[in-house]
Amino acid sequence: MNHAPAAAATAATTPLIRAEVAGLPRYDPGADPDEVAALSGARRVIKLSNNESPFGVSPAAAEAAGRSLADGLSRYPDPTGRRLAEAVGRSLDVPAGRVVLGNGSENILQLLCQAVLDPGDLVVTQAPGFSLHETFPRVMGARVEKVPVTAGFGFDADAWRAALAAGPKLVFLANPCNPTGAVLDAGQLEVVVAATPRSALLVLDEAYGEFARTDPGYPDGLEALRGLDRPWIVLRTFSKAYGLAGIRVGYGIASDTALIQALDRVRTPYHVNRPAQEAAIAALGDHRHLAETVRRTGLEIARVTGRLRAAGLGVVPSSTNFLFIDTGRRSAGVARELHRAGVIVKAWQEPGYENYIRASLSTPGDNDVFVRCLTEICAKGKP
Ligand SMILES: *Cc1c(COP(=O)(O)O)cnc(C)c1O
Repeated sequence: MNHAPAAAATAATTPLIRAEVAGLPRYDPGADPDEVAALSGARRVIKLSNNESPFGVSPAAAEAAGRSLADGLSRYPDPTGRRLAEAVGRSLDVPAGRVVLGNGSENILQLLCQAVLDPGDLVVTQAPGFSLHETFPRVMGARVEKVPVTAGFGFDADAWRAALAAGPKLVFLANPCNPTGAVLDAGQLEVVVAATPRSALLVLDEAYGEFARTDPGYPDGLEALRGLDRPWIVLRTFSKAYGLAGIRVGYGIASDTALIQALDRVRTPYHVNRPAQEAAIAALGDHRHLAETVRRTGLEIARVTGRLRAAGLGVVPSSTNFLFIDTGRRSAGVARELHRAGVIVKAWQEPGYENYIRASLSTPGDNDVFVRCLTEICAKGKP
Protein backbone atom coordinates (compact mmCIF):
# COMPACT_ATOMS: atom_id res chain seq x y z
CA MET A 1 0.00 0.00 0.00
CA ASN A 2 1.16 3.53 -0.72
CA HIS A 3 0.99 5.77 2.36
CA ALA A 4 2.63 8.84 0.81
CA PRO A 5 -0.62 10.78 0.13
CA ALA A 6 -1.66 10.43 3.78
CA ALA A 7 1.63 11.91 4.96
CA ALA A 8 1.21 14.83 2.58
CA ALA A 9 -2.36 15.33 3.77
CA THR A 10 -1.18 15.41 7.39
CA ALA A 11 1.31 18.16 6.57
CA ALA A 12 -1.48 20.22 5.05
CA THR A 13 -4.02 19.44 7.79
CA THR A 14 -1.90 20.31 10.81
CA PRO A 15 -1.89 24.11 10.27
CA LEU A 16 -5.70 24.03 9.87
CA ILE A 17 -6.26 22.83 13.43
CA ARG A 18 -6.92 25.61 15.95
CA ALA A 19 -4.12 25.99 18.50
CA GLU A 20 -6.58 25.43 21.39
CA VAL A 21 -7.56 22.09 19.89
CA ALA A 22 -4.05 20.92 19.01
CA GLY A 23 -2.97 21.47 22.62
CA LEU A 24 -5.79 19.47 24.22
CA PRO A 25 -5.29 16.15 25.95
CA ARG A 26 -7.42 13.34 24.54
CA TYR A 27 -10.19 12.05 26.79
CA ASP A 28 -8.93 8.98 28.64
CA PRO A 29 -11.67 6.32 28.68
CA GLY A 30 -9.38 3.78 30.41
CA ALA A 31 -7.93 0.58 28.99
CA ASP A 32 -9.68 -1.19 26.14
CA PRO A 33 -11.52 -4.33 27.37
CA ASP A 34 -10.55 -6.35 24.28
CA GLU A 35 -6.87 -5.55 24.80
CA VAL A 36 -7.10 -6.41 28.49
CA ALA A 37 -8.86 -9.67 27.63
CA ALA A 38 -6.03 -10.57 25.23
CA LEU A 39 -3.35 -9.52 27.74
CA SER A 40 -4.81 -11.35 30.72
CA GLY A 41 -6.33 -14.37 29.01
CA ALA A 42 -9.29 -13.78 31.33
CA ARG A 43 -12.54 -15.22 30.06
CA ARG A 44 -14.40 -12.24 31.43
CA VAL A 45 -12.86 -8.84 31.99
CA ILE A 46 -14.04 -6.92 35.08
CA LYS A 47 -14.43 -3.31 33.92
CA LEU A 48 -14.36 -0.84 36.81
CA SER A 49 -13.12 2.15 34.84
CA ASN A 50 -16.24 4.03 33.73
CA ASN A 51 -18.58 4.17 36.74
CA GLU A 52 -21.16 2.06 34.96
CA SER A 53 -23.93 0.26 36.81
CA PRO A 54 -23.50 -3.49 37.31
CA PHE A 55 -27.21 -3.75 38.14
CA GLY A 56 -28.48 -3.12 34.63
CA VAL A 57 -31.39 -0.98 33.56
CA SER A 58 -35.04 -0.87 34.48
CA PRO A 59 -36.84 -3.65 32.58
CA ALA A 60 -39.41 -1.05 31.55
CA ALA A 61 -36.64 1.12 30.04
CA ALA A 62 -35.17 -1.81 28.11
CA GLU A 63 -38.61 -2.67 26.79
CA ALA A 64 -39.36 0.93 25.77
CA ALA A 65 -36.02 1.23 23.94
CA GLY A 66 -36.64 -2.07 22.16
CA ARG A 67 -40.12 -1.04 21.05
CA SER A 68 -38.75 2.23 19.76
CA LEU A 69 -36.05 0.42 17.78
CA ALA A 70 -38.61 -1.90 16.28
CA ASP A 71 -40.79 0.83 14.83
CA GLY A 72 -38.85 4.08 14.83
CA LEU A 73 -35.47 3.58 13.14
CA SER A 74 -36.35 5.40 9.94
CA ARG A 75 -37.84 8.49 11.60
CA TYR A 76 -36.04 11.37 13.27
CA PRO A 77 -36.62 11.65 17.00
CA ASP A 78 -38.65 14.50 18.46
CA PRO A 79 -36.15 17.40 18.24
CA THR A 80 -37.59 19.02 21.35
CA GLY A 81 -37.77 15.81 23.39
CA ARG A 82 -41.07 17.19 24.62
CA ARG A 83 -42.42 14.08 26.36
CA LEU A 84 -39.16 13.42 28.20
CA ALA A 85 -38.74 17.09 29.14
CA GLU A 86 -42.29 17.09 30.49
CA ALA A 87 -41.68 13.89 32.44
CA VAL A 88 -38.51 15.36 33.96
CA GLY A 89 -40.33 18.62 34.70
CA ARG A 90 -43.21 16.82 36.40
CA SER A 91 -40.91 14.65 38.49
CA LEU A 92 -39.02 17.72 39.78
CA ASP A 93 -41.81 20.28 39.78
CA VAL A 94 -40.22 22.59 37.19
CA PRO A 95 -41.75 23.80 33.89
CA ALA A 96 -40.66 21.71 30.88
CA GLY A 97 -39.38 24.93 29.31
CA ARG A 98 -36.58 25.02 31.87
CA VAL A 99 -35.41 21.48 31.05
CA VAL A 100 -32.68 20.79 28.48
CA LEU A 101 -31.85 17.31 27.26
CA GLY A 102 -28.47 16.12 26.08
CA ASN A 103 -26.78 13.25 24.30
CA GLY A 104 -25.39 12.38 27.72
CA SER A 105 -25.00 15.21 30.21
CA GLU A 106 -21.44 15.75 28.92
CA ASN A 107 -23.12 16.99 25.74
CA ILE A 108 -24.78 19.70 27.88
CA LEU A 109 -21.41 20.62 29.41
CA GLN A 110 -20.15 21.21 25.88
CA LEU A 111 -23.24 23.20 24.81
CA LEU A 112 -22.90 25.44 27.86
CA CYS A 113 -19.31 26.24 26.93
CA GLN A 114 -20.25 26.93 23.31
CA ALA A 115 -23.12 29.20 24.30
CA VAL A 116 -21.34 31.17 27.01
CA LEU A 117 -17.57 31.29 26.62
CA ASP A 118 -15.44 33.77 24.68
CA PRO A 119 -11.67 33.30 24.25
CA GLY A 120 -9.87 34.44 27.39
CA ASP A 121 -12.88 33.98 29.71
CA LEU A 122 -12.20 32.41 33.09
CA VAL A 123 -13.75 29.11 34.20
CA VAL A 124 -13.43 27.86 37.77
CA THR A 125 -13.69 24.17 38.66
CA GLN A 126 -12.25 21.72 41.18
CA ALA A 127 -9.14 19.54 41.38
CA PRO A 128 -8.97 16.64 41.27
CA GLY A 129 -11.91 16.75 38.91
CA PHE A 130 -13.74 15.62 35.80
CA SER A 131 -11.57 16.14 32.73
CA LEU A 132 -14.36 17.51 30.54
CA HIS A 133 -14.94 20.39 32.98
CA GLU A 134 -11.53 21.56 31.79
CA THR A 135 -11.41 20.29 28.20
CA PHE A 136 -14.63 21.83 26.89
CA PRO A 137 -13.79 25.35 28.17
CA ARG A 138 -10.32 25.08 26.66
CA VAL A 139 -11.82 24.21 23.26
CA MET A 140 -13.44 27.66 23.41
CA GLY A 141 -10.15 29.33 24.30
CA ALA A 142 -11.14 29.92 27.93
CA ARG A 143 -8.71 29.79 30.86
CA VAL A 144 -9.42 27.20 33.56
CA GLU A 145 -8.57 27.69 37.22
CA LYS A 146 -8.82 24.53 39.32
CA VAL A 147 -9.44 24.83 43.05
CA PRO A 148 -7.69 22.03 44.93
CA VAL A 149 -9.25 20.07 47.78
CA THR A 150 -7.62 20.18 51.21
CA ALA A 151 -5.04 17.52 52.13
CA GLY A 152 -7.86 15.39 53.58
CA PHE A 153 -10.01 15.70 50.41
CA GLY A 154 -12.15 18.34 52.10
CA PHE A 155 -13.66 21.54 50.77
CA ASP A 156 -11.31 24.54 50.89
CA ALA A 157 -13.67 27.49 51.42
CA ASP A 158 -10.95 30.16 51.32
CA ALA A 159 -9.49 28.80 48.08
CA TRP A 160 -12.95 28.76 46.47
CA ARG A 161 -13.71 32.32 47.60
CA ALA A 162 -10.38 33.52 46.19
CA ALA A 163 -10.88 31.77 42.84
CA LEU A 164 -14.43 33.02 42.47
CA ALA A 165 -13.36 36.58 43.32
CA ALA A 166 -11.29 36.57 40.09
CA GLY A 167 -14.51 36.92 38.07
CA PRO A 168 -15.24 33.67 36.23
CA LYS A 169 -17.86 33.49 33.47
CA LEU A 170 -18.64 29.85 34.23
CA VAL A 171 -18.28 27.68 37.34
CA PHE A 172 -18.31 23.88 37.10
CA LEU A 173 -18.94 22.21 40.44
CA ALA A 174 -19.51 18.45 40.65
CA ASN A 175 -21.38 17.29 43.74
CA PRO A 176 -20.63 14.49 44.45
CA CYS A 177 -17.15 14.99 43.10
CA ASN A 178 -15.65 12.70 40.46
CA PRO A 179 -13.01 11.22 41.12
CA THR A 180 -13.04 11.50 44.93
CA GLY A 181 -16.65 10.48 45.59
CA ALA A 182 -16.86 13.12 48.34
CA VAL A 183 -19.81 15.47 48.77
CA LEU A 184 -20.13 19.10 49.72
CA ASP A 185 -22.62 19.69 52.51
CA ALA A 186 -25.27 22.41 52.42
CA GLY A 187 -23.02 24.99 54.08
CA GLN A 188 -20.14 24.35 51.68
CA LEU A 189 -22.42 24.52 48.66
CA GLU A 190 -23.73 27.81 50.04
CA VAL A 191 -20.16 29.19 50.17
CA VAL A 192 -19.77 28.53 46.43
CA VAL A 193 -23.22 29.89 45.60
CA ALA A 194 -22.68 33.06 47.63
CA ALA A 195 -19.19 33.70 46.21
CA THR A 196 -20.09 33.08 42.54
CA PRO A 197 -20.63 36.45 40.85
CA ARG A 198 -24.14 37.07 39.54
CA SER A 199 -22.52 37.70 36.16
CA ALA A 200 -21.40 34.05 36.04
CA LEU A 201 -23.27 30.86 35.22
CA LEU A 202 -23.13 28.34 38.07
CA VAL A 203 -23.21 24.74 36.80
CA LEU A 204 -23.87 22.07 39.38
CA ASP A 205 -23.03 18.64 37.94
CA GLU A 206 -24.97 15.99 39.86
CA ALA A 207 -24.09 12.96 37.73
CA TYR A 208 -23.91 10.86 40.93
CA GLY A 209 -26.62 12.67 42.88
CA GLU A 210 -28.96 9.68 43.00
CA PHE A 211 -26.38 7.70 44.98
CA ALA A 212 -25.70 10.54 47.42
CA ARG A 213 -29.32 11.36 48.15
CA THR A 214 -29.43 8.68 50.86
CA ASP A 215 -26.67 10.60 52.68
CA PRO A 216 -28.40 13.03 55.09
CA GLY A 217 -25.55 15.52 54.67
CA TYR A 218 -26.01 15.77 50.90
CA PRO A 219 -27.88 18.87 49.70
CA ASP A 220 -30.23 18.51 46.74
CA GLY A 221 -28.74 21.08 44.38
CA LEU A 222 -32.02 21.84 42.67
CA GLU A 223 -33.67 22.63 46.00
CA ALA A 224 -30.69 24.79 47.01
CA LEU A 225 -30.72 26.82 43.77
CA ARG A 226 -34.40 26.79 42.85
CA GLY A 227 -35.39 30.12 44.36
CA LEU A 228 -32.24 32.05 43.43
CA ASP A 229 -32.48 35.02 41.12
CA ARG A 230 -29.22 34.36 39.26
CA PRO A 231 -28.12 32.11 36.35
CA TRP A 232 -27.65 28.44 37.27
CA ILE A 233 -28.16 24.96 35.88
CA VAL A 234 -28.23 21.55 37.58
CA LEU A 235 -27.11 18.62 35.40
CA ARG A 236 -28.15 15.01 35.88
CA THR A 237 -27.81 11.88 33.81
CA PHE A 238 -29.37 8.50 33.07
CA SER A 239 -25.89 7.00 32.62
CA LYS A 240 -24.94 6.26 36.20
CA ALA A 241 -27.58 5.17 38.75
CA TYR A 242 -30.17 4.50 36.03
CA GLY A 243 -27.63 2.31 34.22
CA LEU A 244 -28.34 3.71 30.73
CA ALA A 245 -24.77 4.78 29.83
CA GLY A 246 -24.92 3.04 26.45
CA ILE A 247 -27.89 4.95 25.13
CA ARG A 248 -26.58 8.48 25.93
CA VAL A 249 -29.12 10.72 27.60
CA GLY A 250 -28.86 13.34 30.34
CA TYR A 251 -30.70 16.50 31.29
CA GLY A 252 -30.37 19.87 32.93
CA ILE A 253 -32.74 22.09 34.89
CA ALA A 254 -31.98 25.79 34.40
CA SER A 255 -32.76 28.99 36.24
CA ASP A 256 -34.65 30.37 33.25
CA THR A 257 -35.88 29.66 29.75
CA ALA A 258 -33.41 32.09 28.13
CA LEU A 259 -30.55 29.72 28.92
CA ILE A 260 -32.46 26.73 27.49
CA GLN A 261 -33.19 28.69 24.32
CA ALA A 262 -29.52 29.59 23.92
CA LEU A 263 -28.57 25.90 24.22
CA ASP A 264 -31.26 25.03 21.67
CA ARG A 265 -29.59 27.34 19.15
CA VAL A 266 -26.20 25.73 19.68
CA ARG A 267 -27.08 22.04 19.71
CA THR A 268 -27.62 19.71 16.76
CA PRO A 269 -31.38 19.52 16.17
CA TYR A 270 -31.92 15.77 16.73
CA HIS A 271 -29.36 15.27 19.47
CA VAL A 272 -31.15 12.71 21.67
CA ASN A 273 -32.09 9.61 19.74
CA ARG A 274 -35.55 8.09 19.85
CA PRO A 275 -34.80 4.92 21.88
CA ALA A 276 -32.95 7.10 24.40
CA GLN A 277 -35.94 9.39 24.89
CA GLU A 278 -38.29 6.42 25.32
CA ALA A 279 -35.94 4.54 27.67
CA ALA A 280 -35.42 7.61 29.83
CA ILE A 281 -39.15 8.25 30.21
CA ALA A 282 -39.63 4.67 31.35
CA ALA A 283 -36.58 4.76 33.63
CA LEU A 284 -37.85 7.90 35.36
CA GLY A 285 -41.04 6.07 36.22
CA ASP A 286 -39.32 3.00 37.69
CA HIS A 287 -38.53 4.18 41.21
CA ARG A 288 -38.02 0.66 42.44
CA HIS A 289 -35.17 -0.19 40.09
CA LEU A 290 -33.39 3.06 40.96
CA ALA A 291 -33.85 2.55 44.70
CA GLU A 292 -32.59 -1.02 44.47
CA THR A 293 -29.49 0.02 42.47
CA VAL A 294 -28.72 2.75 45.00
CA ARG A 295 -29.24 0.38 47.94
CA ARG A 296 -27.03 -2.41 46.55
CA THR A 297 -24.35 0.07 45.51
CA GLY A 298 -24.26 1.58 48.99
CA LEU A 299 -23.80 -1.84 50.58
CA GLU A 300 -20.85 -2.62 48.29
CA ILE A 301 -19.25 0.79 48.80
CA ALA A 302 -19.32 0.26 52.58
CA ARG A 303 -18.11 -3.34 52.39
CA VAL A 304 -15.26 -2.75 49.91
CA THR A 305 -14.13 0.44 51.68
CA GLY A 306 -13.88 -1.57 54.92
CA ARG A 307 -11.94 -4.41 53.34
CA LEU A 308 -9.44 -2.15 51.57
CA ARG A 309 -8.84 -0.10 54.70
CA ALA A 310 -8.36 -3.27 56.72
CA ALA A 311 -5.63 -4.16 54.19
CA GLY A 312 -3.94 -0.82 54.89
CA LEU A 313 -5.03 1.13 51.81
CA GLY A 314 -6.27 4.72 51.98
CA VAL A 315 -9.81 5.09 50.64
CA VAL A 316 -11.68 8.40 50.39
CA PRO A 317 -15.19 8.13 51.91
CA SER A 318 -17.52 7.87 48.90
CA SER A 319 -21.19 8.76 48.43
CA THR A 320 -21.12 7.44 44.84
CA ASN A 321 -20.63 4.14 42.98
CA PHE A 322 -16.83 4.43 42.83
CA LEU A 323 -13.84 4.66 45.17
CA PHE A 324 -10.69 6.80 45.02
CA ILE A 325 -7.91 4.64 46.42
CA ASP A 326 -4.35 5.48 47.44
CA THR A 327 -2.19 2.57 46.24
CA GLY A 328 0.93 3.90 47.96
CA ARG A 329 2.90 4.04 44.71
CA ARG A 330 2.52 5.11 41.07
CA SER A 331 -0.93 3.87 40.19
CA ALA A 332 -0.15 3.45 36.48
CA GLY A 333 1.95 0.39 37.38
CA VAL A 334 -0.73 -0.92 39.73
CA ALA A 335 -3.34 -0.53 36.99
CA ARG A 336 -1.12 -2.44 34.55
CA GLU A 337 -0.84 -5.33 37.01
CA LEU A 338 -4.60 -5.30 37.51
CA HIS A 339 -5.04 -5.43 33.73
CA ARG A 340 -2.91 -8.56 33.65
CA ALA A 341 -5.42 -10.05 36.11
CA GLY A 342 -8.33 -8.99 33.89
CA VAL A 343 -9.48 -6.05 36.04
CA ILE A 344 -9.71 -2.55 34.53
CA VAL A 345 -9.51 0.54 36.76
CA LYS A 346 -8.51 4.10 36.00
CA ALA A 347 -5.02 5.16 37.10
CA TRP A 348 -5.41 8.83 38.02
CA GLN A 349 -3.05 11.19 36.19
CA GLU A 350 -3.67 14.62 37.72
CA PRO A 351 -0.60 16.14 39.43
CA GLY A 352 -0.50 15.17 43.09
CA TYR A 353 -2.81 12.18 42.65
CA GLU A 354 -0.62 9.85 40.60
CA ASN A 355 -0.74 7.24 43.38
CA TYR A 356 -4.52 6.96 43.16
CA ILE A 357 -6.80 4.71 41.18
CA ARG A 358 -10.50 5.30 40.66
CA ALA A 359 -12.49 2.08 40.66
CA SER A 360 -16.22 1.77 40.12
CA LEU A 361 -17.82 -1.00 42.12
CA SER A 362 -19.54 -3.93 40.53
CA THR A 363 -21.37 -6.99 41.80
CA PRO A 364 -20.16 -8.51 45.12
CA GLY A 365 -18.38 -11.35 43.29
CA ASP A 366 -16.50 -9.05 40.93
CA ASN A 367 -15.64 -6.70 43.78
CA ASP A 368 -14.13 -9.60 45.72
CA VAL A 369 -11.87 -10.39 42.76
CA PHE A 370 -10.87 -6.71 42.58
CA VAL A 371 -10.11 -6.48 46.32
CA ARG A 372 -8.06 -9.67 46.27
CA CYS A 373 -6.00 -8.61 43.22
CA LEU A 374 -5.44 -5.06 44.45
CA THR A 375 -4.43 -6.03 47.99
CA GLU A 376 -2.03 -8.69 46.63
CA ILE A 377 -0.43 -6.23 44.22
CA CYS A 378 -0.07 -3.55 46.89
CA ALA A 379 1.27 -5.98 49.52
CA LYS A 380 3.91 -7.19 47.06
CA GLY A 381 5.11 -3.63 46.55
CA LYS A 382 5.84 -3.15 50.27
CA PRO A 383 9.31 -3.74 51.71
C1 LIG B 1 -20.27 10.44 34.00
C2 LIG B 1 -20.25 11.91 34.25
C3 LIG B 1 -20.98 12.83 33.48
C4 LIG B 1 -21.80 12.56 32.27
O1 LIG B 1 -22.05 11.41 31.77
P1 LIG B 1 -23.02 11.24 30.54
O2 LIG B 1 -22.92 9.79 30.28
O3 LIG B 1 -22.52 12.08 29.42
O4 LIG B 1 -24.39 11.69 30.98
C5 LIG B 1 -20.95 14.16 33.81
N1 LIG B 1 -20.24 14.60 34.84
C6 LIG B 1 -19.52 13.77 35.60
C7 LIG B 1 -18.77 14.33 36.75
C8 LIG B 1 -19.49 12.41 35.33
O5 LIG B 1 -18.73 11.60 36.07
